[in-house]
Amino acid sequence: MITTKDLTKVYRSRGREVTALDGVDLHVREGEVFGVVGTSGAGKSTLIRCVNMLERPTSGSVTVDGLELTALPGSEHRPGRELREARRRIGMVFQHFNLLSSRTVQENVELPLEIIGADRHDRRRRAAELLDLVGLGEKARSYPSQLSGGQKQRVGIARALAAEPRVLLSDEATSALDPETTRQILALLRDLNRQLGLTVLLITHEMDVIKSVCDSAALMKGGRVVESGALTDLLADG
Ligand code: ADP
Ligand code: ADP
Repeated sequence: MITTKDLTKVYRSRGREVTALDGVDLHVREGEVFGVVGTSGAGKSTLIRCVNMLERPTSGSVTVDGLELTALPGSEHRPGRELREARRRIGMVFQHFNLLSSRTVQENVELPLEIIGADRHDRRRRAAELLDLVGLGEKARSYPSQLSGGQKQRVGIARALAAEPRVLLSDEATSALDPETTRQILALLRDLNRQLGLTVLLITHEMDVIKSVCDSAALMKGGRVVESGALTDLLADG
């Protein structure tokens, strides 16, 4: 469902070069929860930003759901029409939720649907369904500031699912949450993976997150994948 081949990203800033990704090959199968773990600076954020093409890799390819995103025209700042459409198949969940504080919970979830031009009635109905799905039906009219961290992340997840993506990318989705809330959010991601057949690619610096929800995982160090495979095999290797 997600494949990267020899993915490389070199940042150039103030005359210095930083190799954030150094030949990353990943293969995430349809319907699995795949985790990428590593310490700060390992290249995890860069990887996830290249998978949804918020960042254009320096070389190598990214294929999502059979479509080679790296072959589509446009820069990260000015994506072409095909790339914009392809990105809609990819939902994204963030560490700091990235909700709009001036909008209600319902309006936040409707946002991706507004962007694709869905009519008002459909947006309302879909947002209500999604809020029920994440257990937040009662909070539709609240504002983000009135919610707990876990509730905010539920809104973030509902919004990520609005345009019916086949793939969900999670960038440290539980890193700002306490342990109990973390467990609840991971359980929700697991449920959505099973109920909707959603493929999930998550990045984290916590091995516990990997152990509790992932089917497969990759360990990153210095821009490279140093180990990857089914979780049972990785844990058996110690
Ligand atoms: P992680 O998510 O694992 O913490 P990152 O992908 O954020 O790792 O960073 C990998 C490396 O790339 C780090 O050395 C970081 O400083 C560098 N880096 C990330 N983004 C940029 C950028 N926009 N410009 C320059 N260097 C960057
Ligand atoms: P996080 O690890 O929480 O994602 P970071 O502080 O690593 O946050 O990165 C925040 C932003 O700064 C990202 O967009 C990243 O690409 C960019 N960034 C990270 N490292 C550097 C760097 N060395 N130079 C320039 N930009 C960077």
